[in-house]
Amino acid sequence: MRQTVPAGEVRMGAILEREAELGLRQELATAIAVLYGRGYAMGTGGNFSAVAQREPLRLWMAPSGVDKGSITADSLILVDEAGQSTVGKVSAEEPLHRAIALATGAGAVLHTHSVLGTVLSRAHVAAGYLRFEGYEMLKGLAGVTTHATTVDLPIWPNSQDMDTLAATVTPHLAQAPWGFLLAGHGLYAWGKTVWEARRHVEVWEFLLSVKYHQQSYGAG
Ligand SMILES: [Zn+2]
Repeated sequence: MRQTVPAGEVRMGAILEREAELGLRQELATAIAVLYGRGYAMGTGGNFSAVAQREPLRLWMAPSGVDKGSITADSLILVDEAGQSTVGKVSAEEPLHRAIALATGAGAVLHTHSVLGTVLSRAHVAAGYLRFEGYEMLKGLAGVTTHATTVDLPIWPNSQDMDTLAATVTPHLAQAPWGFLLAGHGLYAWGKTVWEARRHVEVWEFLLSVKYHQQSYGAG
């Protein structure tokens, strides 16, 4: 027998869905504001996404070419499964965000253009990774429970061909430690939620800063 859902419940369901969507957009806008404030997205650099819908995959994203210090929940754009948006310019790096969300099940992907991410990724691209060992801050990465651990942050060469770049990195994403670097370009980090992705950006940027200062100090 066919059951009908009372109109009141349908309305309540729609209201809750709308509130969850607003909450997600607000969380993403706050993460962008915080990371911009730390100097990780100057000159319209960087890009940021949160999964609005899993199947088909739709993303809330900051529009391309916009000062990331000006992003609010209302200025985020919804990017459809074909990588298109009707309300704003989609970032050229959208295929990479999509590839990460698909391969890892991430709920958010945050991409920064920091000074130290740029310098260190370029200096160590030949090695293909940066090694972090014995740091308490590693425990900020989901799943790491002790400082007595070794984590390699992968580095791949940069490219303007995002589809090829996405195909190159995709087979390695499941093993990547919630992030990777593109040489001379910046950091990609992700998490199950916007909050977790933001924490992972902050942990990696902190560790990049530590690495830079240790090398300047002659301490490895
Ligand atoms: Zn970029």
